[in-house]
Amino acid sequence: MSAAQFATLKHLSELLASGKASAVELAQDSLARIDASDLNAFIDVRPEVSLAQAKAADAARAAGQGGALTGLPIAHKDIFVTKDFRSTAGSKMLADYVSPFDATVVERLAAAGMVTVGKTNCDEFAMGSSNENSAFGAVKNPWDVAAIAGGSSGGSAAAVAAGLVSAATGTDTGGSIRQPAALCGITGIKPTYGRVSRYGMIAYASSLDQGGPMARTAEDCALLLNAMAGFDMRDSTSLERPVEDFSRDLNQPLQGLRIGLPKEYFGAGLSSDVAACVQAAIKQFETLGATVVEITLPRTELSIPAYYVVAPAEASSNLSRFDGVRYGHRASEYKDLQDMYKKTRAEGFGAEVKRRIMVGAYVLSHGYYDAYYLQAQKIRRLIADDFQTAFADCDVIMGPVAPTVAWNIGDKADDPVANYLADIYTLSASLAGLPGMSIPVGFGNGQRPVGLQIIGNYFSEARLLNVAHQYQSATDWHTKTPGA
Ligand code: GLN
Repeated sequence: MSAAQFATLKHLSELLASGKASAVELAQDSLARIDASDLNAFIDVRPEVSLAQAKAADAARAAGQGGALTGLPIAHKDIFVTKDFRSTAGSKMLADYVSPFDATVVERLAAAGMVTVGKTNCDEFAMGSSNENSAFGAVKNPWDVAAIAGGSSGGSAAAVAAGLVSAATGTDTGGSIRQPAALCGITGIKPTYGRVSRYGMIAYASSLDQGGPMARTAEDCALLLNAMAGFDMRDSTSLERPVEDFSRDLNQPLQGLRIGLPKEYFGAGLSSDVAACVQAAIKQFETLGATVVEITLPRTELSIPAYYVVAPAEASSNLSRFDGVRYGHRASEYKDLQDMYKKTRAEGFGAEVKRRIMVGAYVLSHGYYDAYYLQAQKIRRLIADDFQTAFADCDVIMGPVAPTVAWNIGDKADDPVANYLADIYTLSASLAGLPGMSIPVGFGNGQRPVGLQIIGNYFSEARLLNVAHQYQSATDWHTKTPGA
């Protein structure tokens, strides 16, 4: 085990600044750990590419250029396209696809000097809650290899939790940053919708998809978000907001912070081990000066049917581009054009993706649009309104990320609805476009990690990171490592 394993970005940055380590050494260390790992967290690793980037970072630092992130290794969820690595989206459809350009997120982190150590495994087209939907196999949870890593950014979460790399990118459409972060015991933040460019993020549900950082600490997430966020004219839903320093409020005291606890997040479906950890974390916030108010998010239960109409509808449209002509896989034998489409898509997509395409096409079809899609959009609006009512009484909302700790690989594999139900606490913030994060707050059954979810109003990322950082300054859950 090298000194750099399980280190924060902040620590690694200090090592680089003081000359105690080089970017090439950090990259070599990370690549060696990735190579030795059997978590199935990575889909594509290209040491020659990473080492060339690390050399350039060392040269930049030697010339007095670069910033805090220059020379630090990062892994990218394989839903961000990259020109130097394959971009598979966890799908057979794109198994050998190499993009002609880098996603904005990848480009910005590279411009900040970060070194890409590889592309992480994920559920196919980011559809899933367990990372068992990947064409490249399930990701294993570093705390217990029998357990799922969570989804869809499970490879990123497992890689950070296992100390293969200190940071990774993820995307969150209905919980895919927060839930795997929770189940693997790391920190992750889904920003306000539109904060982080979707350009080059392979689209699942465009009105929900949002990229964000996954790391060991809130402080590191702030550093990463500083580089990732910002207007991008190539994404039509990118928000034109002034550049912010997300680290600026990290050290603000929490005196007077009003924490809203939605009663719907602490009901019957929540397992007692997760509830106990979440309650203990809230107690800790009270000792830090926060006060607690009960709030209500009355449409929480409706988030599942609403999301599983809206997301598949958008997916069915987004995935129509995979036709064997423009990108990726094409069936090798076919009679005519129709047959080529059919065989290509039958071969290229996995079962869950096909299910979503069918559901999506159905709810958008003539005669069903009003009954399903339009209804779901109305519920989506009401869910967003409920949050605004709640934020009149509180500054942040806290609750569990997931109803249980990580379940075993295979346990829910044949039951899509059981997977959907596990998204109950994350979908609402996604439907509303609100920022949300997950921080580790203890261990439940089987010594598996538990995450606390912190949801804020639009553009309150700096506040969320402050709240999380204050907790992490007072506790040590985020420093725990598997196998220790
Ligand atoms: N589990 C949800 C889904 O399958 C969310 C996934 C995500 O956020 N990408 O759609």
